[in-house]
Amino acid sequence: MSATTYRICLLPGDGIGPEITAEAVKVLGAIGERFGATFEFTEALLGGAAIDATGSPLPEETLTKAHAADAVLLAAIGGPKWDTTDPAKPRPEQGLLGIRKALGLYANLRPVKIFEALKDASTLKPEFLEGVDMLIVRELTGGLYFGARARETGVEGAATGGGVGMRAYDTMEYREYEIERIARTAFEAARLRGGTVHSVDKANVLESSRLWREVVHRLHAAEFADVELLDQLVDNTAMQLIRRPAQFDVVVTENMFGDILSDEASMLTGSLGMLASASLGDSTALYEPSHGSAPDIAGQGIANPLAMLLSVEMMLRYSFSMNEAADALSTAIEGVLADGWRTADIADASTLPQKTVGTSAMGDLVTGRLAAAE
Ligand code: NAD
Repeated sequence: MSATTYRICLLPGDGIGPEITAEAVKVLGAIGERFGATFEFTEALLGGAAIDATGSPLPEETLTKAHAADAVLLAAIGGPKWDTTDPAKPRPEQGLLGIRKALGLYANLRPVKIFEALKDASTLKPEFLEGVDMLIVRELTGGLYFGARARETGVEGAATGGGVGMRAYDTMEYREYEIERIARTAFEAARLRGGTVHSVDKANVLESSRLWREVVHRLHAAEFADVELLDQLVDNTAMQLIRRPAQFDVVVTENMFGDILSDEASMLTGSLGMLASASLGDSTALYEPSHGSAPDIAGQGIANPLAMLLSVEMMLRYSFSMNEAADALSTAIEGVLADGWRTADIADASTLPQKTVGTSAMGDLVTGRLAAAE
């Protein structure tokens, strides 16, 4: 029987991007061997590297390669070299926003999992972190960030004291299909995880939230009655994430609520170098670590590749349905951490100096565990 072939478009980007991408390729090699799959890689330019080579942060060729692949793996983009306040100059972030839009990525998935070995990195007391393993599903292409907005001048009664002044507004707007597809992503993820869905809204105030709730419940009744669904108001969720984070499994919410809650939830872990994300569309998906290009440590071989490897884990799960391989990768990473190995960013006072390793050695340790478990 011939091995299944998956085509992956690599976007190493800038800063530490190429260093952590090399570890992802290494680990995928080990996964392929153990689980009988072949990964074919194409590489393309994005962000600062693309500006230097072509003048554009998102060259046409990159989009063509991304569209042709089964999944896209992005490392990170940006850096001081390309920082500019001149609106006429290209900026690396335009590449990131542009590719998400061009690929129609409407669902952003951010797992928040506490690694037993890294519990002390959190600012919360360890007893509150017991069992924390959640997935925030954020709607990415609708809501307040995409609705009509304007600033008006000369508005009667807008200035202090009632005179003529300025007024601005943004609009939170959702269509049924947008709510239904993100809710479906959340229910499917919960079913895969054997967990629950918290649907987070502000239905006591906002009309868009009332439609959100209605559509989520309709879909739940029609297709996902086996998954437990709970409604929660966004302000309460913000509190509960700190008070009792282990109550959450899958959390689904609109764009701005998700932006804020996912940042709040991610800090439960306390380690930026451990946070992965996936952005899913109907025809493709993009996987990337949550951290940036870390220009301060680029080229030194000390970057933590684990957020990138955890993004690979998501790719195996969500794009290739290789759940067993994803579980094996996750177990390998946990094992390496449990053995005391750390990159500098997650090392603490208890880390033995000889167990603080660089990017490539960390990749080797994970690869070694994957191979040893065969
Ligand atoms: P950053 O995430 O790059 O770095 C913040 C701090 O965390 C730095 O001290 C860095 O050394 C450290 N860090 C980050 N990732 C690490 C890793 N894997 N291993 C070890 N240490 C790590 O954020 P920043 O400094 O605010 O931004 C730097 C550049 O990255 C900027 O140009 C910014 O625009 C860009 N950025 C890109 C993305 C993305 O590509 N999605 C996200 C955020 C920031």
